[in-house]
Amino acid sequence: MHRVVIIGSGFGGLFAAKALKRADVEVTLIAKTTHHLFQPLLYQVATGVLSEGEIAPATREILRRQSNARVLLGLVEDIDLTNRVVKWRFHNEYHETPYDSLIVAAGAGQSYFGNDHFRTFAPGMKTIDDALELRARILKSFEIAEFTDDPEERRRLLTFAVVGAGPTGVEMAGQIRELADSTLRDEFRSIDPSTARVVLVDGADQVLPPFGPKLGRKTQKTLEKLGVEVQLGSIVTDLDDEGLTLKRKDGSTERIEAACKVWAAGVQGSELGATLAEQSGAELDRAGRVVVDHRLNLPGHPEVFVVGDMAAVPGVPGVAQGAIQGARYAAEAIQARVTNTAGPGSFTYRDKGSMATISKFAAVTQIGRLQLTGFVAWLAWLFLHLLYIAGFKQRITTLLSWFITFITNGRAQRVVTNQQMVGRLALERLGARSSGKLIHGEDLTERN
Ligand SMILES: Cc1cc2nc3c(=O)[nH]c(=O)nc-3n(C[C@H](O)[C@H](O)[C@H](O)COP(=O)(O)OP(=O)(O)OC[C@H]3O[C@@H](n4cnc5c(N)ncnc54)[C@H](O)[C@@H]3O)c2cc1C
Repeated sequence: MHRVVIIGSGFGGLFAAKALKRADVEVTLIAKTTHHLFQPLLYQVATGVLSEGEIAPATREILRRQSNARVLLGLVEDIDLTNRVVKWRFHNEYHETPYDSLIVAAGAGQSYFGNDHFRTFAPGMKTIDDALELRARILKSFEIAEFTDDPEERRRLLTFAVVGAGPTGVEMAGQIRELADSTLRDEFRSIDPSTARVVLVDGADQVLPPFGPKLGRKTQKTLEKLGVEVQLGSIVTDLDDEGLTLKRKDGSTERIEAACKVWAAGVQGSELGATLAEQSGAELDRAGRVVVDHRLNLPGHPEVFVVGDMAAVPGVPGVAQGAIQGARYAAEAIQARVTNTAGPGSFTYRDKGSMATISKFAAVTQIGRLQLTGFVAWLAWLFLHLLYIAGFKQRITTLLSWFITFITNGRAQRVVTNQQMVGRLALERLGARSSGKLIHGEDLTERN
């Protein structure tokens, strides 16, 4: 049986596995999380609208009826291209899985543009851990402000800075504003949550750069009407637990004291890109993504496909559709190889448009030349997101949660735990490679 190994359970990995459902192959999907994450709705977990389960169903459950697919929980550390073996670990157990065809869809992480020390004080928005930690930071800022007497400290606690004015930054800023203005109204006695300051910062000259200047201007206007302060042409030069420093294009600087910072700028391709590049001679672009050929293959390796956010393909943006279409293409090419038939030609990407929500009932959508704003765009956003959330149960509960939030302004997911608050520091101590069970408090940073 032809052995296909897939790395990752995101859009690329999951859709590749599903596309191989009827193929005469043995699929092994290895991912470092047990779930398939719908990243576009992470910001709603961070702001209490949705629970993590609604946007992250178990991969195993999604693939339960696909008898040719097996799911393994593990962190892939290396790929041996010569011997065709994937090397992975679960905590301190090491495994090797051989393959005949390989689809690498390990995605991308957050880039801090060389300032990795910002990470501790400004979580990104890539994982469920990030979203839950941000939820804790946002809600706890209001809680602490309630009993803080020092007016300056109270102002700092009620200042929220979002770095990066792409879709995620715009959505986060809009949601924090709504949380402060509507959800938390009348709940505090010493503070008025609506006096919170929400600042959206970006080095570019417009918000939502990929949407073009017209939609960018409209979005900025809507955000400002909501009460979000938009600071464009401003680069973050320093960031610590107290706040952040901005440098503008004219050379002036500004210090913003803000307890809660969100980093929604920049992506960095998976570390696995480096090992693939080193062995195959493939190039990495500035964001660390692997430059693949017109068939999404590594140079000299027609059996290895790199798809999704970790691949650099001209004209293909780092969006869900890029990963889904790449995954389906790779699956088709593998099936052709197995059946000894002519494979697909070069990979071509079909742009299905982009969208971002700004607030309740307001969004922007661009499909080809068609640009939509306001309520119609929001309806399109609602429909498409429901369509792509994996799992029937998840669709129903998400729809119900949205209904409650849109009608009452209430949010059902406001639980904040200590683990959410301190988890990042614990993980940093354990090392980036920590996963799974802890064994007698060993130092996991060292490979034994
Ligand atoms: C906050 C946010 C909002 C977004 N909004 C939108 C949107 O509105 N519309 C849109 O189209 N796109 C959006 N995107 C982009 C979209 O989510 C990505 O383009 C898409 O998820 C890419 O799919 P992927 O499979 O390449 O990577 P991912 O979905 O990131 O999946 C990567 C997978 O690889 C696994 N993995 C990584 N490293 C390893 C390893 N070493 N070992 C084992 N497993 C590993 C991960 O656990 C994960 O399962 C958004 C992204 C983010 C972060």
